[in-house]
Amino acid sequence: TPPEIIRNFCIIAHIDHGKSTLADRMLQLTGVVDERSARAQYLDRMDIERERGITIKSQAVRMPWTVSEGDNTGTTYVLNMIDTPGHVDFTYEVSRSLEACEAAVLLVDAAQGIEAQTLANLYLALGADLQIIPVLNKIDLPSAQPEKYAAELAGIIGCDPSDVLHVSAKTGMGVEALLNEIVKQTPAPVGNADAPPRALIFDSVYDTYRGVVTYVRVVDGKLSHRDRIKMMSTGATHEMLEVGVISPEPVKAGDLGVGEVGYLITGVKDVRQSRVGDTVTSQIHGATEALGGYKHPNPMVFAGLYPIDGDDYPTLRDALEKLQLNDAALAYEPETSGALGFGFRIGFLGLLHMEIVRERLEREFNLDLISTAPNVVYHVTMEDGTEHEVTNPSEYPAGKIAEVREPVVKATILSPSDYIGAIMELCQSKRGQLEGMDYLSEDRVEMRYTLPLAEIVFDFFDQLKSRTKGYASLDYEPTGEQPSDLVKVDILLQGEPVDAFSAIVHKDHAYAYGVALAGKLRDLIPRQQFEVPIQAAIGARVIARETIRAIRKDVLAKCYGGDITRKRKLLEKQKEGKKRMKMVGRVEVPQEAFIAALSTG
Ligand code: GDP
Ligand code: MG
Repeated sequence: TPPEIIRNFCIIAHIDHGKSTLADRMLQLTGVVDERSARAQYLDRMDIERERGITIKSQAVRMPWTVSEGDNTGTTYVLNMIDTPGHVDFTYEVSRSLEACEAAVLLVDAAQGIEAQTLANLYLALGADLQIIPVLNKIDLPSAQPEKYAAELAGIIGCDPSDVLHVSAKTGMGVEALLNEIVKQTPAPVGNADAPPRALIFDSVYDTYRGVVTYVRVVDGKLSHRDRIKMMSTGATHEMLEVGVISPEPVKAGDLGVGEVGYLITGVKDVRQSRVGDTVTSQIHGATEALGGYKHPNPMVFAGLYPIDGDDYPTLRDALEKLQLNDAALAYEPETSGALGFGFRIGFLGLLHMEIVRERLEREFNLDLISTAPNVVYHVTMEDGTEHEVTNPSEYPAGKIAEVREPVVKATILSPSDYIGAIMELCQSKRGQLEGMDYLSEDRVEMRYTLPLAEIVFDFFDQLKSRTKGYASLDYEPTGEQPSDLVKVDILLQGEPVDAFSAIVHKDHAYAYGVALAGKLRDLIPRQQFEVPIQAAIGARVIARETIRAIRKDVLAKCYGGDITRKRKLLEKQKEGKKRMKMVGRVEVPQEAFIAALSTG
């Protein structure tokens, strides 16, 4: 395909603004998916994605489009639509997908206006030098305010409000005009056809039958199905079994040239051998300089995962191995907890990533798991100069500490200006530093904060939502580390420290944290046959104490001789509850207790 007729674009939007619906509508209008086989959210392939309505893995679809209006009416172009993941946990993957495009359709809900993710993605798109095509969606809604939000959009990207397109992805209105506009506004790809091949990997997906399917955008030269290829970050070489394009099912091709977007299959079984951001070249006469911007995925959040039934440990190990074939960002190593037994410490990109992994482990491998409260990574320098990386709070070093550093993020918060005070108060209580504030329109404000990641990963988003009646939106990206005054808070049950409950907290918050967590555990741990004292301590100093009183009567006694179904129900309910219980010493502790720290802010 000659580059002159190729147009590579993506759609960026805040969650729920209609990206998937618009993508589906385009597939239908271009005839790639017919009415009959069109199912909702064609591009969101994984079950979990479909259920949660989010896009985790990006995909690329090739669509032919014959211009139906204006200068090039009748000319057929090749549109490659590259789907980007929309969640903050996957910012790096988003940036690689954007790198594969020349334009971005900036999609905004005409009843909601610009949100934090819209802006965060817009900044990324501008950083990647993309042409921005502003579009208001859902103009069929009675609550749509197209004039107001077109002005807002125009103000931010510096265009005229009349340049903002109006569509309804739901009814299809305006989508044909949008396709014509994409052809018109998107620059054709530019590359050196005679140079050694260089292609950017923007996604790689494990497929049970075909092994790893790698999605690439060719920048220079051409990738042929006869080549042996080389991954430039590692120098590893692979035989090429197939190249092709997705339209919307995979279609084999002989080769992929400048500007083309497609997939390649090498027989590799592990996505870690085909990393997002890496450059593919040919083994012989290959390129010597990789495309810029490759980054190794760094886990930001860690948690312990333990099987409830210790016999499931080998199953959990096998499951993690399999999952890693599919998820290059997943990192894990075995760990042993005095309280929970044998398990794994797992590194995640963020909380959503953690939930997804956990759900997949339980669903696809039929495991019952206990997870500890997630924590970030700390770097500790001791007075004697030794360095420690702490991914598990219970391994926080004892002894003389010179400095502790914690990860920080740059957060962008968008909100109606009425809530500025409430947001400032929240961010201050989370150790935030205001970096700047801008009015996007007279009643909407963008606030930029530097915040410790540890303060954001827990209940920050929920608190932000509740303090702003749901109107504020949030996006963030990691920006490095800062030294902080942190201490380890331990929890003791019956006088014994429980490693799985240890947490690292800012010194000024430690006391309140200890009191709140001890209180919460008192409520969450069921009464036992004996009294259970709960203590929170910093080192040897106890900062809070609670007591779970002993059970007095057999709970079944009141059913004795009575209604048999009621009794059975009670037993079943207890059994159900048991599934999520773990014996810690002599005490039965429910799953909720291990993540109670999550909502202790
Ligand atoms: P995404 O999160 O950006 O992929 O958003 P979806 O495509 O999943 O859409 C979110 C919700 O908005 C769904 O319930 C859609 O049916 C609805 N939606 C999307 N586009 C339109 C539209 O043009 N009009 C109306 N009324 N609803 C829409
Ligand atoms: Mg979607």
